[in-house]
Amino acid sequence: MQIVNLGRTLFQILLFVGASTPLASQVTAIRAGRLIDPETGTVATNQIILVEDGKFTAIGPGLAIPRGAEVIDLSDLAVLPGLVDAHNHLALTYKQVPENNVYYLTYVMESTPLRAIQAVSNGIQMLTSGFTIVRDMGNNANYADAALRIAIEQGWIPGPTIINSGLIIGGMGGQFWPTPEMAVDKRIVYPEYLDADTPDEIIKAVRQNALFGARVIKICVDCKPWGYSTEEIRLFISEAGKIGMKVEGHVQTVEGARRAIAAGIWSIAHDRGLTDEMHKLMAEKGIWRAGTETPISLTGHTTPERYAATVTGLRNAWENKVPLTFSTDADYYVPGMHRGEVAIEFIETWKAAGIPNTDILRAMTVNGYRVSETMASRGPIKPGLIADLIAIRGNPLEQIDALRDVQFVMKDGMVFKRDGVMTPERFFRGGPVNGWNIR
Ligand SMILES: [Zn+2]
Repeated sequence: MQIVNLGRTLFQILLFVGASTPLASQVTAIRAGRLIDPETGTVATNQIILVEDGKFTAIGPGLAIPRGAEVIDLSDLAVLPGLVDAHNHLALTYKQVPENNVYYLTYVMESTPLRAIQAVSNGIQMLTSGFTIVRDMGNNANYADAALRIAIEQGWIPGPTIINSGLIIGGMGGQFWPTPEMAVDKRIVYPEYLDADTPDEIIKAVRQNALFGARVIKICVDCKPWGYSTEEIRLFISEAGKIGMKVEGHVQTVEGARRAIAAGIWSIAHDRGLTDEMHKLMAEKGIWRAGTETPISLTGHTTPERYAATVTGLRNAWENKVPLTFSTDADYYVPGMHRGEVAIEFIETWKAAGIPNTDILRAMTVNGYRVSETMASRGPIKPGLIADLIAIRGNPLEQIDALRDVQFVMKDGMVFKRDGVMTPERFFRGGPVNGWNIR
């Protein structure tokens, strides 16, 4: 009798402990009908993925599901790691109306707070399309990108992991050609660009971005005919390196590409300056290509001539074994599409270039983690890493368009989307549950 009572009491204590354990330590068990490894291009069937405290703890066939675990049944789906857009602009959305797709007007007409709110929305739109990491490469008003990253990291809102650049640093004028009175008297280029024309200004600009929450440095290599020299680019790289950041160069000419490559830049954005010769040098040095290959299907955002050159260039980069990332430069509104749908549309260019599905998927996943430098913390579905994953109906190794139909998204071990519907309740919290630090 006493033993029975003792047993009952113990059971009640266990129930109490179970009930008072925070949600975070709840074990989640995912049944994955197919589990895709983009690194090897292989599929494993009937896998169990265990998640606890936001991290993967075990993956394998026939794993025992702990008692009390929440079971998520994805037996009918293919599970794979989250996607990466290596070049997006979440806090910029230029439009046909009112600014005729000229972002020079967008940044005059839309405040940083408005653009920060747009960035939250765009981030959610990217996440529902399966992008769990976004490199946000500038044109974000006065550090709306940093506010977005911090809000997501602190646990206020759902969104992809953001690798943000802060302000784009360039020679005077940035990518604009302002009038003297507006540039000098009104500093109208700031905050869309940060002027740095001398070594002292270069160092100060890098430190300003670091202070205000950047995770990577973005520079205008050749937005102006004078551009940056190889020595100046090296100074950016060494100063950023002291703070643990890499440098991406906006490059639009062959000579700009040559200087950026000679300096040993981390990544090159855009494909205009990337010839066969530049691709060979990039492959030799292991420099990432963020080619931002706009598909012809996004009417008005490329031309048939430009698209043909883009497709040929991407093919040439692949043939030369340049490290390729999937990157979109998405910063505009396409009526009828959300930002994630615009981003996924870029697979059209990769298909047109004849890149094999395995390599497209690799560019969209593992190469994305590498260029973002998250490989050791998040990206792959591996024990010990933060639990981000997506699930789709088809098999992207056979049909890359299967990625257009994301049914399920998990971010930081929490379900963001299930059965094709966003269910982000757990991401909205009334305080900074992950601390208040900005770095
Ligand atoms: Zn861009």
